[in-house]
Amino acid sequence: MLKEDRLEGFIERCRQAGLKITPQRVAVYEILLNSPHHPTVEEIYEEVKKRYPFVSLATVYRTVETLEQMGLAKKVCYWGSSARYDANTEEHHHLICVRCGAIKDIYIEDSLSIPKELEGFRTEGYSVNIYGLCPSCKSAQPDT
Ligand SMILES: [Zn+2]
Ligand SMILES: [Zn+2]
Repeated sequence: MLKEDRLEGFIERCRQAGLKITPQRVAVYEILLNSPHHPTVEEIYEEVKKRYPFVSLATVYRTVETLEQMGLAKKVCYWGSSARYDANTEEHHHLICVRCGAIKDIYIEDSLSIPKELEGFRTEGYSVNIYGLCPSCKSAQPDT
């Protein structure tokens, strides 16, 4: 889906939910859509602040939470103490660098054969995190 369409969809859903559509809110989603590196809320905040210097971190937090509730953003994982967010809601997996914390989207052709029912648990989806060293961290580390 085009980013513009997704942005429009977000605005439409805010309207339906009776949420106020502020330029700051729209900026939060736009920044998340344009950040393939899975930013933290603080990183999104830094970007929003460049456009709207008076935006508060609390507003950015609340907006990200709203996006998550609407299914437009996903929490990827915690790196250090901060959650990282993803606006890519297609089924995909992640390569995570254990040194610098870089997270890259990957798509794996072969799907894992995960049973629909596991120990009484109905699976609805899955996401694989693959940990290792990214190319720049790998080249910075001498071979052992
Ligand atoms: Zn790295
Ligand atoms: Zn992702």
